Amino acid sequence: MKSKNKVIKYVFRSEEKHWVGDGFHVHGLLRPSEEINKSISPFILMDYASPKEFSKTNTPKGVGQHPHRGFETVTFAYQGEIEHRDSSGGGGVIKSGDVQWMTAGKGVIHDEFHSKEFSKSGGIFEMVQLWVNLPAKDKMSDPKYQEIQNKDIPNVELSDKSNMRIIAGEYVSTKGPSSTFTPINIFDISSSSADNLSLNLEEGTNTILLILKGEIKIDNNEFKEQSVIIYEQDGEKINFTTSSDFKALLLNGEPINEPIVAHGPFVMNTKEEINQAIIDYQNGKMGTL
Ligand code: MN
Repeated sequence: MKSKNKVIKYVFRSEEKHWVGDGFHVHGLLRPSEEINKSISPFILMDYASPKEFSKTNTPKGVGQHPHRGFETVTFAYQGEIEHRDSSGGGGVIKSGDVQWMTAGKGVIHDEFHSKEFSKSGGIFEMVQLWVNLPAKDKMSDPKYQEIQNKDIPNVELSDKSNMRIIAGEYVSTKGPSSTFTPINIFDISSSSADNLSLNLEEGTNTILLILKGEIKIDNNEFKEQSVIIYEQDGEKINFTTSSDFKALLLNGEPINEPIVAHGPFVMNTKEEINQAIIDYQNGKMGTL
């Protein structure tokens, strides 16, 4: 049986960057909206801090204390180091190639900064932060913290030019180390020189490709770095031709078909639950740092 190609539904690219705190200069590539929620679920938001030089300082830059409830924040460190602390006791420094998977669940307070060491030396900083939704039944689960180190992420050889790190989920028979609440695949793709790649994914799942470096061609269309490609749920296959020195992050997951009400740092199912989150935060129920 011949598998059907997934068709592109949306392409987003943002030239503009904005600051998150004073440490993260990001392209806000995905935001919750009625239009795209169903096509990106279980993913909610994506910020890409494309490579930027920071000069050395003794005062680490970043974002101070703030709360989250109802979802997970997943941070991919590509260049530089990020330090995090949260009110559930989670924390640590993630370095190039590492991933930090924080389940906010019923609520945490956390801060996110460049590490002390990176701040002291300065240099190029590059990261992605992704928000992953939780199904209604898990939104009030206990907070959790997973530090996923580069050395624990298996690397699959797609060809003599391309590799794929399996951060979450499974490709053919290689499993990633992250624990997820719903079925999710996160793959980090890189090609040293131009290559034709073809990946099989499950019919009915959502698929997002973020081009971090280089460009791809699909049929006769070219997509440049910092583009996000969102595919239709139909079909099982994606095909593209990479440029040389190419890097991309592929997100794939089973959609959570539940209503989304997002308000600042909280993502719940109803307006009432958002109001409750604000009250609980103000009453100190998300802990302290
Ligand atoms: Mn945060």
